[in-house]
Amino acid sequence: MASAEIIAIGSELLLGETQDTNTLFLLCKLRDCGINVFRTTMIGDNVNRISNAIQEALTRSDIVITTGGLGPTVDDPTREAVALSFGCNLIFDKQLWENIHEYFKKMQRNPTENNKRQAYLPEIAEPILNPVGTAPAFYIHQNNKLLISLPGVPLEMKYLTEETVIPLLKKIYSENEVILVRTLHSYGLGESVIDELVSDLEKASNPTLGLSAKFGQIDLRITAKGNTFLETKKLISDFESQIRRRLGINIFGSDDETLALVTNRMLYEKGIQLETLEINTNGCLSAAIEPKNLFSQTIKSEDPDSLTSDDIFMKHIAETGYPYSIALINRKDKMQNQIHSKIYFKMNTNIYHKERFYNSLTFSDEQPVLLAMELIRETILNEANTETEMN
Ligand code: ATP
Ligand code: MG
Repeated sequence: MASAEIIAIGSELLLGETQDTNTLFLLCKLRDCGINVFRTTMIGDNVNRISNAIQEALTRSDIVITTGGLGPTVDDPTREAVALSFGCNLIFDKQLWENIHEYFKKMQRNPTENNKRQAYLPEIAEPILNPVGTAPAFYIHQNNKLLISLPGVPLEMKYLTEETVIPLLKKIYSENEVILVRTLHSYGLGESVIDELVSDLEKASNPTLGLSAKFGQIDLRITAKGNTFLETKKLISDFESQIRRRLGINIFGSDDETLALVTNRMLYEKGIQLETLEINTNGCLSAAIEPKNLFSQTIKSEDPDSLTSDDIFMKHIAETGYPYSIALINRKDKMQNQIHSKIYFKMNTNIYHKERFYNSLTFSDEQPVLLAMELIRETILNEANTETEMN
C-alpha cells in the first residue's frame, strides 16, 4: 500500500496566524484513495529547511505533497526548494508564462515582472495547470517516488486536488486498498471504563480502534483496510457489532450524529414537546432543543438563593403543570471554583435527575447541555424498555 506525507509550507502557519486546513483536507482525500499517511510536517518559508524536509519525507514515503509557497514573491520558496532537493535547475517555461498572461487577461489585469517567477519550474517537473489562480502547480515522478507541489490558497489547492491530483494518484497507484473509517459515539461511561471493555479490540491491527474523549463523550474510531469497498465495509460492521454488544445503549450514535441530534430525533418520534427552565445559564439548554420539540422556555439570570435547586424545580412544575419539563440549574461556588449543575427531567408523573460539579475555570455550556440530553435520551429508552417488559 502506498504511503504519503504532507508538508504544509508557510511561516504564517507556524506563527499561528493561519490554521492549516490544507493538511486536513488532503488527509481525508488520501484516506479515501487508500493511501496511508503516517506523518505530516509544517514548515516556514525557508528554502533549505523545506528542501531538507522534502528529501527526508521522500526517503520514508512514496508520495510527498506540499502546499503553499508557489506565489510570485521572493518569500515563496517552494519551487527553489524542490529544485534543490532533486539537484536540478529551475527553467523558464514559455507556455506557462503564456498561460499566466491569459489568466491575467481574463481577470482584466496585467501580470507583473514578479509573476514571471511562477513560470519557472524544476526542469524535471510536469506542470499542473491552474485555471483558478496564477500559481502553476507541478509534480515530479521519478524512481517510484512522487512529489506534488500545490498552491497554498485553499480554494486553488482543493480544486487542483480534485481535478488533477486524485486522478494522477489513481493512475499511478491503481492497486490501492480501500480505507474506511466509522466513529461510534458514547456518553456516560468514563474513558478508562470503556478502555477496559474494549482493550482486546484496541490491540487489533485491522480494523484498528482508537478512543478520544471530550466533555464526557467518548468516541470510538474504527479504521479498516481492505481490497474492495464491500470487504472493508464488512470488516467495519463485524467490529462495530462487537463494540455495540459490549457498550449497549451507551452508544448513542455514529459518524455525524451528535447527542443533541439523536435526542431531538427521539423527542420528535415520541411526540414530546418540552417546557424548559434555566437558571444561571445563557439559554444554552433551550437553544439545544429544536424549536419543534420546544413547548415554552423560562430563562432566569437571578438565582433565588434561599431555595434549594430541588425546591425551585418542584415549585416550577407545580406552577406549570405541564407533563414534560427539563431544567438546568447552575450554581456557582466561588470558594471552590466550581459550578454545580443540576438537571431535572419530568416525564409524566416521574422526575429524574443528574448532577455534576465542573471546574469554573474550564467550564463550557456544552458540558451540562450534553448531560441534559443524555438524561432525556436515557429516560426515554428506559421507559420504553419498562413498557415492553410490562406488555
Ligand atoms: P499565492 O499565489 O497566493 O502566493 P501560494 O502557493 O504562494 O499562493 P501561500 O502564499 O503560501 O500560497 O498562501 C496563500 C494563502 O493561502 C494565504 O492566505 C495563506 O494563509 C493560505 N494558506 C497557505 N497554506 C495554508 C494551509 N496549509 N492551510 C490553510 N490556508 C493556507
Ligand atoms: Mg504566496
